[in-house]
Amino acid sequence: MSKRLIVAIDGPAGAGKSTLARRVAERIGAVYIDTGAMYRAVALWAIRQSIPTDDAHRLEALAHHAKIEFLPGENRLLLNGEDVSAEIRTPAVATAASEVAAIPGVRRAMVTLQREIADRSSIVMEGRDIGTIVFPDAEVKIYLDANTDVRAQRRAEELTTKQIPFDLDLLRQQIEDRDSRDRNRAASPLMQAGDATYLDSSNLSASEVEEEILRIIRSKTSNGKALVP
Ligand code: C5P
Repeated sequence: MSKRLIVAIDGPAGAGKSTLARRVAERIGAVYIDTGAMYRAVALWAIRQSIPTDDAHRLEALAHHAKIEFLPGENRLLLNGEDVSAEIRTPAVATAASEVAAIPGVRRAMVTLQREIADRSSIVMEGRDIGTIVFPDAEVKIYLDANTDVRAQRRAEELTTKQIPFDLDLLRQQIEDRDSRDRNRAASPLMQAGDATYLDSSNLSASEVEEEILRIIRSKTSNGKALVP
């Protein structure tokens, strides 16, 4: 790929963003960045330090000091040099992540890091504010959605694979609470960018969504003519 490309994928929890962003990044030879993992890493550190998730001052300092790195080519995240990829996936960390993500200073620290990463290569970045705040000029913006039952079911399957225990009703409630917090916060709330393409994945397979996103990328980058490598 000659010119650096930014593909922004936003949407609520469990809409399939991570799976799709990873697959699409692989298809187009771009780097995949899971920004939710970054907020989860800050939340994990806060939990370990017993910092309440409403202590904005200390959490902002924590976010600025957190050394967050993605291992190239792998879906692994290092927090201060420690691989916390598995530990950040628990429902408790997900909830804490959405609480710390409401703090403007925490967001500033993460957005700075996210922009630095994109300086180096073409990226497929997924999160809640990528098309609206982090990269408002991204060439391709997708808002990936799915109904709540489907999203809860997908998270359940993910947790089962990772052998993390859960209660389906509670999981559904946690997803709804998290979405509501993410949509209604003052700082960079989850919303569809005006120029993003809306995609409902409720009744589509991952392969179908993948092909649809690749079609959108082609149409935005080459009038649909050239094939994405
Ligand atoms: O994507 P994931 O579910 O791992 O994100 C965890 C939490 O991090 C979200 O519920 C949201 O509050 C926060 N987040 C965010 N902005 C992003 C990515 C995630 O606020 N760009």
